Amino acid sequence: MKFIDRILSAFFGNDKQKFREVHLDQEVVDEIIQISREATPREFVALLSGKIREQILHIDGLIFLPGETSNEGAVMKIFMLPPMSGAVGSVHSHPGYSAQPSSDDLIFFAKNGFFHIIIAKPYTLESMVAYNSLGEEVSFKVV
Ligand SMILES: [Zn+2]
Repeated sequence: MKFIDRILSAFFGNDKQKFREVHLDQEVVDEIIQISREATPREFVALLSGKIREQILHIDGLIFLPGETSNEGAVMKIFMLPPMSGAVGSVHSHPGYSAQPSSDDLIFFAKNGFFHIIIAKPYTLESMVAYNSLGEEVSFKVV
C-alpha cells in the first residue's frame, strides 16, 4: 500500500482522534467478509467511513477505491473522491492466515486515519483484527 501513502495522507488529514470504543455495523462486517472471499488470492482494499460521537467510533460503511491500488489509474481516481467523505481508516485483506500488519501496513496506519482492519483467511469475523494508527490491536463490537 506504500504507493498511495502520500495521496491518502492528504485525503485523511493528520487528525488523531480519541475514542474509547468502536462499533462496527453488522452489514459492514458481512460486506468485508464477502468481498475478501471474492477477491482472494488478491488483496481487497477499501476505506472505512464513520463518525465519532461521545467517544464511540461508529463504522457505518465502506468507501471503495476503484481498480487496483497498485496501478496509477486507481490513484488518479482517489483524487476524484469528494473531500470530507468521512473516511476514518481502512480495511484490507491478507491472502494468507496472518492478520499481522506488514511494515508497509504500519507506515500506512501511522499516516492515514485512526482505525484499520486486516482480515486474513479464512475470512470470518474471528480472522478480522483491528488496529489503531500505532499498529496496536484494538477491540471492536459488532452492532
Ligand atoms: Zn497488509
